[in-house]
Amino acid sequence: MDKKILDVAIIGGGPGGLTAGLYGSRALMNIKLFEQLGVGGEAARTDVIENYPGFEQPVNGMELMMKFNAQAERFGLEATYEEVLSLDLQDDIKKIETTEGVHEAKSVIIATGTHHRTLDVPGEKEYAGQGVSYCATCDGAFFRNQVVAVIGGGDSSVKEAIYLTRFASKVYIIHRRKGFRAEKITMDMARKNEKIEFIVDTVVEEISGTQQAGVTHVNLLNKLTKEKSKLDVNGVFIFVGMLPNTSEIIKEKDAKLILDEAGYLKTDINMKTAIDGVYAIGDVRAHSKRQVAVAVGDAVTALMDAEQYIEQKFHS
Ligand code: NAP
Repeated sequence: MDKKILDVAIIGGGPGGLTAGLYGSRALMNIKLFEQLGVGGEAARTDVIENYPGFEQPVNGMELMMKFNAQAERFGLEATYEEVLSLDLQDDIKKIETTEGVHEAKSVIIATGTHHRTLDVPGEKEYAGQGVSYCATCDGAFFRNQVVAVIGGGDSSVKEAIYLTRFASKVYIIHRRKGFRAEKITMDMARKNEKIEFIVDTVVEEISGTQQAGVTHVNLLNKLTKEKSKLDVNGVFIFVGMLPNTSEIIKEKDAKLILDEAGYLKTDINMKTAIDGVYAIGDVRAHSKRQVAVAVGDAVTALMDAEQYIEQKFHS
């Protein structure tokens, strides 16, 4: 392994990580971007992105992320596919322990994003991959001419429900209350879509099925009337929010300083955490607006601050 101390270790290869990599590589800094599987993050699993500036037509998330990656590669960035196991952050030289060994860096930009919250109902684990899914772009095509339920009332659930109408014959959106968090423009599109039916004030109590068929139905409870019902579906897509990817890699002594109660990374306006040389960007940052454009802005801010920090700390 290259023992040379890195200027910046970027943890995570979503839009934020790739942008930090682009700016850092272009500034000729010694950088490594650590990614577990493939670059692009959650954005790459998004079917259509229509609010990223510069693209007047909707762009596929994977396509956009491949453009981010190709642009960073043009300046020499090459993702390092090693799983990061833990970070040791408080010394001047930070340590990044991966499946392949230990790397050292003067600064660390954490861009690890979030993962899907589970519903925690009986049948969810049992039928995962057999009708239960957390990714419409990955699994939607398996439900051609079938009936699916989408759980949740945020942007993800309503957008993914609209996407699923390409394949499914019917899409139920099941939400635990009447009010939706999803943007008005998205709600309007869903309401106009004849394949979508809303079931509100209702929770899923159980996902049921058989070994052979996978999911066959969900058991529902109307929270207002207390009425129980059974809804026949072939698939259940769960979008009930996100959780930060921090608990696995941030050690307890660092967690106390840099995480909030929900496990997100707290930063100042320069994306700096309470530990010098340590930054957080994108969805993993507390109070992020969770947009590709926001991750991009966070990344530029963090990278430029890190550059200044390294100059002052190590070269003056
Ligand atoms: P979210 O906005 O947090 O919505 C999660 C939804 O799941 C809420 O409606 C919530 O209900 C419901 N929920 C949570 N726990 C539940 C449970 N145990 N049982 C049943 N329902 C439950 O999450 P998201 O939709 O994944 O969006 C996350 C962030 O990404 C948001 O900031 C969103 O704006 C952003 N995003 C943006 C876009 C875009 O195109 N701009 C696309 C996707 C996501 P309550 O409403 O009752 O709490």
